[in-house]
Amino acid sequence: MGYDEADDKLKDECGVFGIWGLGQQEEAANFAYLGLHALQHRGQEAAGIVSTDGETLHVHRDMGHVADIFTAEVIARLKGGAAIGHVRYSTTGASHVKNAQPFAVEYAGGAVAVGHNGNLVNADELRSELEALGSIFTSSSDTEVIVHLIARSKVHAAPGSPGQLVSSVREALGRVSGAYSLVFLTPTALVGVRDPMGFRPLVLGRLKGQWVLASETTALDLIEAEYVREVEPGELVVIDRDGLRSERLFPDRAQPTRLGRCIFEAIYFARPDSVLFGRSVYETRHAFGRRLAIEHPVPADYVIPVPDSGVPAAIGYAEQSGIPFNMGLVRSHYVGRTFIEPSQQIRHFGVKLKLNALKSVLKGKRVVVVDDSIVRGTTSRKIVKMIRAAGASEVHLRISSPPTSWPCYYGIDTPTRQELIASTHDELQIATYVTADTLGYLSLSGMYEAIGEKRESYCDACFSGEYLIDFPARSAVPRGRRVVGT
Ligand code: SF4
Repeated sequence: MGYDEADDKLKDECGVFGIWGLGQQEEAANFAYLGLHALQHRGQEAAGIVSTDGETLHVHRDMGHVADIFTAEVIARLKGGAAIGHVRYSTTGASHVKNAQPFAVEYAGGAVAVGHNGNLVNADELRSELEALGSIFTSSSDTEVIVHLIARSKVHAAPGSPGQLVSSVREALGRVSGAYSLVFLTPTALVGVRDPMGFRPLVLGRLKGQWVLASETTALDLIEAEYVREVEPGELVVIDRDGLRSERLFPDRAQPTRLGRCIFEAIYFARPDSVLFGRSVYETRHAFGRRLAIEHPVPADYVIPVPDSGVPAAIGYAEQSGIPFNMGLVRSHYVGRTFIEPSQQIRHFGVKLKLNALKSVLKGKRVVVVDDSIVRGTTSRKIVKMIRAAGASEVHLRISSPPTSWPCYYGIDTPTRQELIASTHDELQIATYVTADTLGYLSLSGMYEAIGEKRESYCDACFSGEYLIDFPARSAVPRGRRVVGT
Protein backbone atom coordinates (compact mmCIF):
# COMPACT_ATOMS: atom_id res chain seq x y z
CA MET A 1 0.00 0.00 0.00
CA GLY A 2 1.43 3.38 -0.94
CA TYR A 3 1.73 6.14 1.55
CA ASP A 4 -1.03 8.75 1.25
CA GLU A 5 0.86 11.97 0.63
CA ALA A 6 -2.29 14.03 0.81
CA ASP A 7 -2.89 13.00 4.39
CA ASP A 8 0.60 12.55 5.84
CA LYS A 9 -0.82 10.63 8.78
CA LEU A 10 0.23 7.33 10.23
CA LYS A 11 -2.25 4.84 8.87
CA ASP A 12 -4.55 2.83 10.96
CA GLU A 13 -4.25 -0.90 10.96
CA CYS A 14 -7.41 -2.96 11.17
CA GLY A 15 -10.66 -3.33 13.02
CA VAL A 16 -12.33 -6.49 14.29
CA PHE A 17 -15.87 -7.35 15.33
CA GLY A 18 -17.63 -10.45 16.68
CA ILE A 19 -21.15 -11.31 17.82
CA TRP A 20 -22.52 -14.50 19.38
CA GLY A 21 -26.27 -14.93 19.22
CA LEU A 22 -26.70 -18.54 18.07
CA GLY A 23 -30.18 -19.65 19.05
CA GLN A 24 -31.28 -16.05 19.71
CA GLN A 25 -31.18 -14.42 16.28
CA GLU A 26 -30.36 -15.40 12.73
CA GLU A 27 -28.94 -12.17 11.42
CA ALA A 28 -25.44 -12.00 12.87
CA ALA A 29 -24.01 -10.92 9.49
CA ASN A 30 -26.25 -7.84 9.54
CA PHE A 31 -24.89 -6.86 12.94
CA ALA A 32 -21.35 -7.56 11.75
CA TYR A 33 -21.98 -5.36 8.73
CA LEU A 34 -23.10 -2.49 10.95
CA GLY A 35 -20.22 -3.06 13.35
CA LEU A 36 -17.69 -2.94 10.51
CA HIS A 37 -19.34 0.19 9.19
CA ALA A 38 -18.60 1.87 12.53
CA LEU A 39 -15.00 0.63 12.32
CA GLN A 40 -14.45 1.64 8.70
CA HIS A 41 -11.99 4.40 9.73
CA ARG A 42 -9.62 1.62 10.91
CA GLY A 43 -9.20 0.19 7.42
CA GLN A 44 -10.60 0.96 3.98
CA GLU A 45 -8.79 -1.51 1.75
CA ALA A 46 -10.69 -4.71 2.31
CA ALA A 47 -13.31 -6.25 4.56
CA GLY A 48 -14.79 -9.63 5.36
CA ILE A 49 -17.43 -11.41 7.40
CA VAL A 50 -17.54 -15.06 8.45
CA SER A 51 -20.81 -16.29 9.95
CA THR A 52 -21.97 -19.60 11.35
CA ASP A 53 -25.29 -21.34 11.73
CA GLY A 54 -23.78 -23.80 14.19
CA GLU A 55 -22.83 -26.25 11.43
CA THR A 56 -20.78 -24.49 8.80
CA LEU A 57 -18.70 -21.34 8.40
CA HIS A 58 -19.94 -18.97 5.65
CA VAL A 59 -17.28 -16.63 4.30
CA HIS A 60 -17.23 -13.46 2.23
CA ARG A 61 -14.17 -11.21 1.80
CA ASP A 62 -13.42 -8.59 -0.81
CA MET A 63 -11.52 -5.41 -1.56
CA GLY A 64 -13.16 -2.05 -0.92
CA HIS A 65 -15.42 -0.36 1.58
CA VAL A 66 -17.89 -2.22 3.76
CA ALA A 67 -20.96 -0.64 2.15
CA ASP A 68 -19.79 -1.64 -1.34
CA ILE A 69 -18.79 -5.21 -0.49
CA PHE A 70 -21.80 -6.34 1.54
CA THR A 71 -24.84 -6.09 -0.69
CA ALA A 72 -28.18 -7.48 0.50
CA GLU A 73 -27.53 -10.67 -1.54
CA VAL A 74 -24.12 -11.20 0.04
CA ILE A 75 -25.47 -10.66 3.56
CA ALA A 76 -28.34 -13.10 2.84
CA ARG A 77 -25.77 -15.82 2.06
CA LEU A 78 -23.96 -15.24 5.36
CA LYS A 79 -26.38 -17.26 7.44
CA GLY A 80 -26.51 -17.82 11.16
CA GLY A 81 -26.61 -16.27 14.59
CA ALA A 82 -22.87 -15.75 15.14
CA ALA A 83 -20.28 -13.91 13.06
CA ILE A 84 -16.92 -12.20 13.06
CA GLY A 85 -15.83 -9.37 10.76
CA HIS A 86 -12.70 -7.49 9.83
CA VAL A 87 -11.75 -4.25 8.08
CA ARG A 88 -8.24 -4.05 6.78
CA TYR A 89 -5.59 -1.55 5.98
CA SER A 90 -2.45 -3.50 5.15
CA THR A 91 0.33 -3.37 7.70
CA THR A 92 1.98 -6.63 6.69
CA GLY A 93 1.27 -8.12 3.30
CA ALA A 94 0.34 -6.45 0.07
CA SER A 95 -3.00 -5.00 -0.89
CA HIS A 96 -4.82 -7.97 -2.40
CA VAL A 97 -8.04 -9.84 -1.73
CA LYS A 98 -6.10 -12.95 -0.71
CA ASN A 99 -4.87 -10.92 2.29
CA ALA A 100 -8.41 -9.84 3.24
CA GLN A 101 -9.67 -11.25 6.54
CA PRO A 102 -11.15 -13.10 8.37
CA PHE A 103 -9.14 -16.14 7.25
CA ALA A 104 -11.11 -19.39 7.50
CA VAL A 105 -9.63 -22.92 7.51
CA GLU A 106 -10.46 -26.54 8.28
CA TYR A 107 -7.96 -28.49 10.36
CA ALA A 108 -7.94 -31.66 12.42
CA GLY A 109 -9.47 -29.72 15.31
CA GLY A 110 -12.38 -28.46 13.19
CA ALA A 111 -13.24 -25.30 11.22
CA VAL A 112 -12.02 -21.93 12.47
CA ALA A 113 -11.94 -18.32 11.23
CA VAL A 114 -9.74 -15.53 12.57
CA GLY A 115 -9.62 -11.74 12.33
CA HIS A 116 -6.51 -9.90 13.56
CA ASN A 117 -5.71 -6.32 14.50
CA GLY A 118 -2.01 -5.75 15.18
CA ASN A 119 1.30 -6.95 13.86
CA LEU A 120 3.45 -9.97 14.72
CA VAL A 121 7.13 -9.08 14.98
CA ASN A 122 8.37 -12.67 14.51
CA ALA A 123 6.04 -13.57 11.62
CA ASP A 124 8.88 -13.86 9.08
CA GLU A 125 10.84 -16.42 11.11
CA LEU A 126 7.73 -18.42 11.90
CA ARG A 127 6.67 -18.37 8.29
CA SER A 128 10.06 -19.71 7.14
CA GLU A 129 9.92 -22.40 9.80
CA LEU A 130 6.38 -23.42 8.83
CA GLU A 131 7.20 -23.44 5.11
CA ALA A 132 10.18 -25.70 5.81
CA LEU A 133 7.73 -28.06 7.52
CA GLY A 134 5.48 -28.08 4.45
CA SER A 135 2.90 -25.37 5.21
CA ILE A 136 1.68 -23.65 2.06
CA PHE A 137 0.77 -19.99 2.53
CA THR A 138 -1.93 -18.46 0.37
CA SER A 139 -1.36 -14.85 1.47
CA SER A 140 1.47 -12.57 2.57
CA SER A 141 -0.35 -11.58 5.77
CA ASP A 142 1.25 -12.23 9.16
CA THR A 143 -2.14 -13.42 10.40
CA GLU A 144 -1.91 -16.55 8.27
CA VAL A 145 1.01 -17.61 10.47
CA ILE A 146 -1.47 -17.88 13.35
CA VAL A 147 -3.77 -19.97 11.15
CA HIS A 148 -0.96 -22.41 10.26
CA LEU A 149 0.16 -22.65 13.87
CA ILE A 150 -3.42 -23.52 14.83
CA ALA A 151 -3.61 -26.08 12.02
CA ARG A 152 -0.47 -27.75 13.42
CA SER A 153 -1.64 -27.67 17.02
CA LYS A 154 -2.30 -30.87 18.91
CA VAL A 155 -5.88 -32.10 19.21
CA HIS A 156 -6.52 -32.13 22.96
CA ALA A 157 -10.32 -32.13 23.02
CA ALA A 158 -13.21 -33.12 20.77
CA PRO A 159 -12.60 -31.64 17.31
CA GLY A 160 -14.76 -28.54 16.87
CA SER A 161 -15.36 -28.11 20.60
CA PRO A 162 -14.65 -24.79 22.37
CA GLY A 163 -12.03 -26.61 24.48
CA GLN A 164 -10.15 -27.63 21.37
CA LEU A 165 -10.27 -24.09 19.98
CA VAL A 166 -8.89 -22.61 23.21
CA SER A 167 -6.04 -25.12 23.41
CA SER A 168 -5.17 -24.54 19.73
CA VAL A 169 -5.24 -20.77 20.15
CA ARG A 170 -3.03 -20.97 23.26
CA GLU A 171 -0.55 -23.23 21.56
CA ALA A 172 -0.39 -21.00 18.47
CA LEU A 173 -0.14 -17.69 20.32
CA GLY A 174 2.50 -19.15 22.61
CA ARG A 175 4.82 -19.01 19.58
CA VAL A 176 4.06 -15.51 18.33
CA SER A 177 5.42 -12.21 19.50
CA GLY A 178 3.97 -8.76 18.92
CA ALA A 179 0.65 -6.99 18.99
CA TYR A 180 -2.64 -8.79 18.55
CA SER A 181 -6.29 -8.30 19.29
CA LEU A 182 -8.00 -11.31 17.74
CA VAL A 183 -11.46 -12.71 17.19
CA PHE A 184 -11.92 -16.41 16.39
CA LEU A 185 -15.12 -18.14 15.28
CA THR A 186 -16.02 -21.83 15.05
CA PRO A 187 -19.49 -23.35 14.68
CA THR A 188 -19.55 -23.75 18.47
CA ALA A 189 -17.76 -20.71 19.93
CA LEU A 190 -16.59 -17.13 19.58
CA VAL A 191 -13.23 -16.33 21.19
CA GLY A 192 -11.63 -12.92 21.78
CA VAL A 193 -7.97 -12.48 22.73
CA ARG A 194 -5.77 -9.51 23.55
CA ASP A 195 -1.97 -9.83 23.70
CA PRO A 196 -0.37 -9.63 27.14
CA MET A 197 0.71 -5.99 26.67
CA GLY A 198 -2.61 -4.93 25.17
CA PHE A 199 -1.27 -2.86 22.28
CA ARG A 200 -4.49 -2.77 20.30
CA PRO A 201 -7.92 -2.22 21.82
CA LEU A 202 -10.71 -4.78 22.14
CA VAL A 203 -13.97 -4.21 24.00
CA LEU A 204 -16.80 -6.39 25.19
CA GLY A 205 -20.46 -5.45 24.80
CA ARG A 206 -23.89 -6.91 25.46
CA LEU A 207 -26.89 -6.80 23.15
CA LYS A 208 -30.10 -8.32 24.47
CA GLY A 209 -28.36 -11.34 25.95
CA GLN A 210 -25.83 -11.65 23.13
CA TRP A 211 -22.13 -10.97 23.56
CA VAL A 212 -20.29 -8.61 21.23
CA LEU A 213 -16.56 -8.00 20.69
CA ALA A 214 -15.25 -4.95 18.83
CA SER A 215 -12.10 -2.90 18.33
CA GLU A 216 -13.93 0.25 19.41
CA THR A 217 -17.10 1.14 21.26
CA THR A 218 -18.42 2.99 18.18
CA ALA A 219 -19.37 -0.44 16.83
CA LEU A 220 -21.35 -1.16 20.01
CA ASP A 221 -23.09 2.22 19.82
CA LEU A 222 -24.27 1.68 16.26
CA ILE A 223 -25.95 -1.65 17.02
CA GLU A 224 -27.22 -0.29 20.37
CA ALA A 225 -25.18 -2.75 22.42
CA GLU A 226 -24.17 -1.83 25.94
CA TYR A 227 -20.44 -1.32 26.65
CA VAL A 228 -19.43 -3.80 29.34
CA ARG A 229 -15.65 -3.48 29.62
CA GLU A 230 -12.33 -3.83 27.83
CA VAL A 231 -10.98 -7.29 27.15
CA GLU A 232 -7.94 -7.03 29.43
CA PRO A 233 -4.37 -7.36 28.16
CA GLY A 234 -3.51 -11.07 28.27
CA GLU A 235 -7.16 -12.10 28.59
CA LEU A 236 -8.97 -14.73 26.55
CA VAL A 237 -12.78 -14.75 26.52
CA VAL A 238 -14.76 -17.74 25.29
CA ILE A 239 -18.38 -17.24 24.35
CA ASP A 240 -20.53 -20.26 23.57
CA ARG A 241 -23.96 -21.70 24.38
CA ASP A 242 -23.01 -21.76 28.08
CA GLY A 243 -22.31 -18.01 28.16
CA LEU A 244 -19.01 -16.15 28.61
CA ARG A 245 -15.89 -17.40 30.35
CA SER A 246 -12.76 -15.36 30.97
CA GLU A 247 -9.33 -16.97 31.23
CA ARG A 248 -5.71 -15.84 31.23
CA LEU A 249 -4.25 -16.37 27.79
CA PHE A 250 -1.05 -17.79 29.29
CA PRO A 251 -1.89 -18.98 32.80
CA ASP A 252 1.69 -20.21 33.34
CA ARG A 253 3.40 -16.93 32.43
CA ALA A 254 3.84 -13.88 34.63
CA GLN A 255 2.01 -10.78 33.46
CA PRO A 256 4.35 -8.16 31.93
CA THR A 257 5.22 -5.39 34.37
CA ARG A 258 4.59 -2.77 31.69
CA LEU A 259 1.58 -2.50 29.37
CA GLY A 260 1.76 -1.41 25.76
CA ARG A 261 -1.58 0.26 25.08
CA CYS A 262 -1.01 2.33 21.92
CA ILE A 263 -1.09 6.00 22.87
CA PHE A 264 -1.44 6.91 19.20
CA GLU A 265 -4.89 5.30 19.24
CA ALA A 266 -5.87 8.04 21.70
CA ILE A 267 -4.09 10.77 19.72
CA TYR A 268 -5.38 10.00 16.26
CA PHE A 269 -6.50 6.50 15.22
CA ALA A 270 -9.61 5.87 17.27
CA ARG A 271 -12.83 7.71 16.62
CA PRO A 272 -13.40 10.62 19.03
CA ASP A 273 -16.75 9.13 20.06
CA SER A 274 -15.10 5.91 21.24
CA VAL A 275 -14.25 4.90 24.79
CA LEU A 276 -10.69 3.62 24.49
CA PHE A 277 -8.69 1.92 27.26
CA GLY A 278 -11.52 2.97 29.58
CA ARG A 279 -11.36 6.70 28.64
CA SER A 280 -13.35 8.91 26.28
CA VAL A 281 -11.18 9.61 23.23
CA TYR A 282 -12.75 13.04 22.86
CA GLU A 283 -11.94 13.95 26.47
CA THR A 284 -8.38 12.68 26.07
CA ARG A 285 -7.77 14.80 22.96
CA HIS A 286 -9.42 17.78 24.60
CA ALA A 287 -7.08 17.40 27.61
CA PHE A 288 -4.07 17.18 25.28
CA GLY A 289 -5.16 20.49 23.71
CA ARG A 290 -5.49 22.19 27.09
CA ARG A 291 -2.05 21.03 28.09
CA LEU A 292 -0.62 22.15 24.74
CA ALA A 293 -1.91 25.66 25.43
CA ILE A 294 -0.11 25.66 28.78
CA GLU A 295 3.14 24.38 27.29
CA HIS A 296 3.11 26.53 24.14
CA PRO A 297 1.11 29.75 24.58
CA VAL A 298 1.14 32.43 21.89
CA PRO A 299 -0.91 35.62 21.33
CA ALA A 300 -3.40 35.06 18.49
CA ASP A 301 -6.85 36.01 17.20
CA TYR A 302 -8.17 32.49 16.56
CA VAL A 303 -7.47 28.85 17.31
CA ILE A 304 -8.31 26.76 14.26
CA PRO A 305 -8.21 22.96 13.94
CA VAL A 306 -6.93 20.90 11.05
CA PRO A 307 -10.19 18.99 10.56
CA ASP A 308 -11.32 16.48 11.51
CA SER A 309 -8.76 14.92 13.81
CA GLY A 310 -7.43 18.20 15.24
CA VAL A 311 -10.84 19.45 16.40
CA PRO A 312 -11.04 18.18 20.03
CA ALA A 313 -7.46 19.33 20.83
CA ALA A 314 -8.14 22.74 19.21
CA ILE A 315 -11.24 23.17 21.37
CA GLY A 316 -9.13 22.33 24.44
CA TYR A 317 -6.42 24.77 23.37
CA ALA A 318 -8.98 27.52 22.80
CA GLU A 319 -10.65 26.94 26.18
CA GLN A 320 -7.38 26.95 28.07
CA SER A 321 -5.90 29.96 26.25
CA GLY A 322 -9.08 32.04 26.06
CA ILE A 323 -8.44 32.59 22.33
CA PRO A 324 -11.66 32.14 20.29
CA PHE A 325 -12.08 28.86 18.40
CA ASN A 326 -12.92 29.22 14.72
CA MET A 327 -13.08 27.08 11.61
CA GLY A 328 -10.44 28.37 9.21
CA LEU A 329 -10.21 25.14 7.23
CA VAL A 330 -13.07 23.16 5.70
CA ARG A 331 -12.66 19.49 4.88
CA SER A 332 -14.24 17.67 1.96
CA HIS A 333 -15.48 14.25 3.01
CA TYR A 334 -15.91 12.99 -0.51
CA VAL A 335 -12.28 12.26 -1.37
CA GLY A 336 -11.28 8.61 -1.11
CA ARG A 337 -8.14 7.96 0.91
CA THR A 338 -6.43 6.07 -1.87
CA PHE A 339 -6.99 8.64 -4.58
CA ILE A 340 -3.58 10.23 -4.67
CA GLU A 341 -1.39 7.78 -6.53
CA PRO A 342 -1.05 8.58 -10.22
CA SER A 343 1.52 11.31 -10.68
CA GLN A 344 3.37 14.10 -8.97
CA GLN A 345 1.29 16.61 -10.90
CA ILE A 346 -1.99 15.27 -9.54
CA ARG A 347 -0.50 14.56 -6.11
CA HIS A 348 0.21 18.27 -5.84
CA PHE A 349 -3.52 18.89 -5.54
CA GLY A 350 -4.05 16.26 -2.86
CA VAL A 351 -4.25 18.56 0.14
CA LYS A 352 -6.42 21.07 -1.70
CA LEU A 353 -8.85 18.34 -2.61
CA LYS A 354 -9.28 17.54 1.06
CA LEU A 355 -8.99 20.95 2.68
CA ASN A 356 -9.86 24.50 1.75
CA ALA A 357 -9.06 27.68 3.67
CA LEU A 358 -11.77 30.17 4.64
CA LYS A 359 -10.55 33.58 3.53
CA SER A 360 -13.34 35.41 5.38
CA VAL A 361 -12.09 33.95 8.68
CA LEU A 362 -8.35 34.06 8.10
CA LYS A 363 -7.72 37.40 6.36
CA GLY A 364 -5.41 39.58 8.46
CA LYS A 365 -5.63 37.24 11.48
CA ARG A 366 -2.96 35.67 13.70
CA VAL A 367 -3.95 32.02 13.97
CA VAL A 368 -2.97 29.03 16.10
CA VAL A 369 -3.41 25.93 13.95
CA VAL A 370 -3.87 22.70 15.94
CA ASP A 371 -3.13 19.28 14.41
CA ASP A 372 -2.62 15.91 16.09
CA SER A 373 0.71 14.92 14.51
CA ILE A 374 3.32 15.63 11.86
CA VAL A 375 4.68 12.60 10.02
CA ARG A 376 6.75 13.73 7.05
CA GLY A 377 5.84 17.40 7.19
CA THR A 378 4.72 17.60 3.58
CA THR A 379 1.05 18.13 4.36
CA SER A 380 1.66 20.53 7.25
CA ARG A 381 3.75 22.67 4.91
CA LYS A 382 0.94 22.77 2.34
CA ILE A 383 -1.65 23.57 5.00
CA VAL A 384 0.40 26.44 6.46
CA LYS A 385 0.97 27.85 2.98
CA MET A 386 -2.74 27.53 2.21
CA ILE A 387 -3.63 29.45 5.37
CA ARG A 388 -1.12 32.18 4.54
CA ALA A 389 -2.43 32.40 0.98
CA ALA A 390 -5.90 32.98 2.48
CA GLY A 391 -4.54 36.10 4.19
CA ALA A 392 -3.49 35.01 7.71
CA SER A 393 -0.84 37.38 9.09
CA GLU A 394 0.77 34.82 11.46
CA VAL A 395 0.53 31.03 11.56
CA HIS A 396 1.49 29.25 14.78
CA LEU A 397 1.40 25.46 14.45
CA ARG A 398 0.62 23.43 17.58
CA ILE A 399 0.78 19.62 17.64
CA SER A 400 -1.15 17.66 20.27
CA SER A 401 1.44 14.87 20.48
CA PRO A 402 5.24 14.68 20.85
CA PRO A 403 7.43 14.60 17.70
CA THR A 404 6.92 11.32 15.77
CA SER A 405 10.52 10.15 15.35
CA TRP A 406 10.39 6.33 15.25
CA PRO A 407 8.52 3.78 13.13
CA CYS A 408 5.90 1.50 14.64
CA TYR A 409 6.27 -2.30 14.53
CA TYR A 410 3.09 -3.08 16.40
CA GLY A 411 0.40 -2.70 13.78
CA ILE A 412 0.57 0.87 12.50
CA ASP A 413 1.80 1.69 9.02
CA THR A 414 4.62 4.22 9.32
CA PRO A 415 7.18 5.49 6.84
CA THR A 416 10.85 4.62 7.47
CA ARG A 417 12.70 6.44 10.22
CA GLN A 418 14.50 8.56 7.62
CA GLU A 419 11.17 9.77 6.23
CA LEU A 420 9.86 10.92 9.61
CA ILE A 421 10.78 14.58 9.68
CA ALA A 422 11.24 14.68 13.46
CA SER A 423 13.96 12.01 13.27
CA THR A 424 16.29 14.35 11.39
CA HIS A 425 15.02 17.87 12.20
CA ASP A 426 14.64 19.72 15.49
CA GLU A 427 11.54 21.81 16.18
CA LEU A 428 13.03 25.01 14.82
CA GLN A 429 14.05 23.28 11.59
CA ILE A 430 10.60 21.71 11.25
CA ALA A 431 8.97 25.13 11.80
CA THR A 432 11.17 26.52 9.03
CA TYR A 433 10.31 23.61 6.72
CA VAL A 434 6.56 23.90 7.23
CA THR A 435 6.87 27.72 7.01
CA ALA A 436 5.14 28.30 10.38
CA ASP A 437 5.99 31.37 12.48
CA THR A 438 6.28 29.10 15.51
CA LEU A 439 5.84 25.42 16.23
CA GLY A 440 5.07 23.66 19.51
CA TYR A 441 4.66 19.94 20.26
CA LEU A 442 3.03 18.48 23.36
CA SER A 443 5.74 17.04 25.63
CA LEU A 444 5.86 13.31 26.40
CA SER A 445 5.46 13.90 30.15
CA GLY A 446 2.76 16.52 29.54
CA MET A 447 0.79 14.02 27.46
CA TYR A 448 0.51 11.61 30.39
CA GLU A 449 0.04 14.33 33.00
CA ALA A 450 -2.82 15.78 30.94
CA ILE A 451 -4.83 12.58 31.34
CA GLY A 452 -3.50 11.52 34.75
CA GLU A 453 -2.13 8.24 33.42
CA LYS A 454 1.12 6.38 34.10
CA ARG A 455 3.53 6.02 31.22
CA GLU A 456 4.02 2.34 32.24
CA SER A 457 0.51 1.63 30.96
CA TYR A 458 1.21 2.70 27.37
CA CYS A 459 3.44 2.24 24.36
CA ASP A 460 4.93 5.49 23.06
CA ALA A 461 7.80 4.01 21.03
CA CYS A 462 7.05 6.16 17.98
CA PHE A 463 7.89 9.20 20.13
CA SER A 464 10.49 7.83 22.51
CA GLY A 465 12.21 5.03 20.57
CA GLU A 466 11.64 2.83 23.64
CA TYR A 467 10.28 -0.35 22.10
CA LEU A 468 8.46 -2.73 24.38
CA ILE A 469 8.94 -5.87 22.28
CA ASP A 470 12.06 -6.49 20.23
CA PHE A 471 11.80 -7.40 16.57
CA PRO A 472 14.67 -9.83 16.13
CA ALA A 473 14.84 -10.59 12.43
CA ARG A 474 14.05 -7.24 10.91
CA SER A 475 16.87 -5.89 8.82
CA ALA A 476 15.44 -2.38 9.09
CA VAL A 477 15.77 -2.16 12.87
CA PRO A 478 16.50 1.51 13.40
CA ARG A 479 19.78 2.33 15.08
CA GLY A 480 19.51 3.93 18.49
CA ARG A 481 16.22 2.28 19.44
CA ARG A 482 15.95 0.84 22.92
CA VAL A 483 13.97 -2.16 24.06
CA VAL A 484 12.56 -1.57 27.51
CA GLY A 485 9.68 -4.06 27.74
CA THR A 486 9.68 -7.25 29.76
S1 SF4 B 1 4.90 2.65 18.37
FE1 SF4 B 1 3.39 4.33 18.43
S2 SF4 B 1 1.81 3.75 16.95
FE2 SF4 B 1 3.00 1.89 17.43
S3 SF4 B 1 1.90 0.87 19.11
FE3 SF4 B 1 3.46 2.19 20.04
S4 SF4 B 1 2.38 4.15 20.40
FE4 SF4 B 1 1.15 2.99 18.95
